[in-house]
Amino acid sequence: MRLISERVFGRCGIQAALGALLALLALQPLVAQNRGIIGLRQVALADAGAASRPVAGPVFAENARLANGLDRAELSFDLSAPVKAGSFVLAAPDRIVVELPQVEFEAAPPEGPHRARHPHAAARAPGGLVASYRFGLFAPGKSRIVIDLSAPARVLRAAAVSSPAGTRLVVSLARMDRAAFLAAAHNALAAQQAATADDPPAPGVVAAAVSGLPVVVIDPGHGGIDSGAMVRGLVEKNIVFDFAKELAGKLRASGHYKVVMTRDSDVFVALGDRVKIARDAGASLFVSVHADTISDAASVSGATVYTCSEHASDAEAARTAEKENQADAVAGVESKDEDNGVSDILFDLTRQETRTYSHVFARTLVNYWQVAARLNKNPERSAGFRVLKAPDVPSVLIELGYLSNAADGAALNSPGWRDATTSRVAAAIDAFFTAKGSLPAKANTAPPTAEALDTTPTGMVK
Ligand SMILES: [Zn+2]
Repeated sequence: MRLISERVFGRCGIQAALGALLALLALQPLVAQNRGIIGLRQVALADAGAASRPVAGPVFAENARLANGLDRAELSFDLSAPVKAGSFVLAAPDRIVVELPQVEFEAAPPEGPHRARHPHAAARAPGGLVASYRFGLFAPGKSRIVIDLSAPARVLRAAAVSSPAGTRLVVSLARMDRAAFLAAAHNALAAQQAATADDPPAPGVVAAAVSGLPVVVIDPGHGGIDSGAMVRGLVEKNIVFDFAKELAGKLRASGHYKVVMTRDSDVFVALGDRVKIARDAGASLFVSVHADTISDAASVSGATVYTCSEHASDAEAARTAEKENQADAVAGVESKDEDNGVSDILFDLTRQETRTYSHVFARTLVNYWQVAARLNKNPERSAGFRVLKAPDVPSVLIELGYLSNAADGAALNSPGWRDATTSRVAAAIDAFFTAKGSLPAKANTAPPTAEALDTTPTGMVK
């Protein structure tokens, strides 16, 4: 293995304080709000979920309705055909998760003041048992409705109900006491963890690990039921996916790397699974792509590159990590830590080396990025991002800019900006691997220290 001598970087673990903040923040509804009826169309394309049964063709659903009392609540959708639904509860934050066959949520009809501004929007429902809810694709073959609760509740019914008037998906909830709710959540969590304990790596990931080329994992944030930030029609999960796909294409075209994307469609991937994909692939670099937003500070702009640290570099970094770490809670998944599976001494050495390389790449990326696009005034920061936790994979998270800033929002949505910036990121990755000696193109015998690897791009204007 590669060794370094510096012991300057602290441990990065999941912190109790972050967990508590996550629990609080996950109860905040997403950007779009809806106080009335949401119209939507729901298409069941395939029926691969465990909680589903075969259907002959697409199933359409529309007209979400919510009756939201303090002790009872009912959420329903009109269906064109029955589908089978399952459900379970999760605590801290308290949620109900309804599992369905794969559905494709479409935007509401344009008329009406209360329609959802985005098909994956959370709908806020203040005052009753249901605090808010959201719906979308969870995994290929599976969709979910996630209901945030304002008080502990159990599912009385989650099923398709047919009558002469038609078929409806009905989710009925009743308030329950806290102890019984926690017991139900505990059982659900145990069942969920048992079901996912030994997921094998995907075939493409294994192929990457044995290819002989450096493996670069590109991680478009969010996806499926988790839209990420949403501002003025800009949706983070779509913007970062377009960016990641273009970057992956350029890296593949270079022939220098095996490139793995943590998702190649609009699907939810848990934070721990993103880390697992990188480790299973034997990744030499992990780049997570996100777009930030900040309320009441529209002037804040520019890209920021984050690395993982136990203590956040500043309050803004801590806020960003807390927000990005919510992704699992948004989709109704309990976060779990990966077992690193190596002995302590080896683990420490590996992790220190990983930290150094992560910082080196962050510095390199900032230097290359500023040639083409705007940087935040403090572009290198660190905080406890769950997705950057792999102890043996140098990992950074780039926030491309702020959707809450008009200029950034326009840039991030522009093909010209995307072309220029993905080229700079690809060039930064080339510089990083060339300096490490992993690429033969440019001879570089310098040892892999931060100074030696802090390459400055040609054409850079200071
Ligand atoms: Zn994000």
